[in-house]
Amino acid sequence: MNPEAPNPAAASPDAAALTAASPGALRGKVALVTGGSRGIGAAVCRALAAAGAAVAVNYRSSEGPAKEVVRAIEEAGGTALAVPGDVADHAAAEEMVRRTTAELGGLHILVNNAGVAKDALIYTMAPDDWLDVMRVNFGGVFNCTKAALPHFMSQGEGVIVNVSSVMGERGWVGESNYAASKGAVNAFTRCCAMEAARFGVRVNAVLPGFSPTDLVAGLTEGQTGKGIRRQIPMRRFGSVEQIAEVVRFLAGPESAYMTGSLVTVDGGAMTALGLGRPN
Ligand code: NAP
Repeated sequence: MNPEAPNPAAASPDAAALTAASPGALRGKVALVTGGSRGIGAAVCRALAAAGAAVAVNYRSSEGPAKEVVRAIEEAGGTALAVPGDVADHAAAEEMVRRTTAELGGLHILVNNAGVAKDALIYTMAPDDWLDVMRVNFGGVFNCTKAALPHFMSQGEGVIVNVSSVMGERGWVGESNYAASKGAVNAFTRCCAMEAARFGVRVNAVLPGFSPTDLVAGLTEGQTGKGIRRQIPMRRFGSVEQIAEVVRFLAGPESAYMTGSLVTVDGGAMTALGLGRPN
């Protein structure tokens, strides 16, 4: 190959987008991150802000931690806003979108990250515990997507990233409600991508494996954590920053031709057959 020859890719709009994939790639964009007060969501807020986006940091009850995320972003020279609201409540989701557009001047990126777990075996699970998990994990994705979509469609631009889980594609004892809610998110991601593509709106999902946060402390700490880590091909848990970096990629111009994708970030956990070594 002649290194002097013109590179045809350099002239395409996608190539221009790729060169724009720099720390300022999201400058001028506004993002709403649900469950941005802690864990993966807080890391996503920081990553999007570092790429130049103004960020609405949603929380349900952790006002202090949400304001701390806002303060850290502002101290680093960015723009952020703490927005309370329960994603399981459709009216609250609409209010979050309204406040974000009113106070940050628009909305271009929605990260549906808020999630809960209420683990139990099916025969002992309280009926409210499957419904609560479904209402937040899947209902929240539906509510916020429905609230943001008309705005995205009318401006002919928008990106949605759903933080799902590898559990949505696999079985795990004691997580039937959680896994079912994430399986629903995965199916919804594909359908939403198909409905929204013609309006210039992309919809993808990130499927983390295990990343130490409050949500999974019971699985990542102590002997249980050791036992799980041993079975992950990369032999370690992912950091919240490693998950957030993939969310940022899916929210930005580098992934301009991606929609309907379920991207695993799990150290290879989903690639294993799951039977263990033959000894
Ligand atoms: P986390 O540390 O427990 O944080 C959960 C976040 O969700 C908090 O900001 C919380 O807000 C918010 N939240 C919960 N219910 C809400 C509601 N009804 N309305 C608005 N916000 C709500 O959990 P995480 O581990 O970062 O999990 C984030 C996402 O990643 C979840 O969807 C989870 O299922 C997914 N995930 C995590 C892992 C992992 O290993 N950590 C693996 C796979 C998937 P408050 O602070 O106000 O309570």
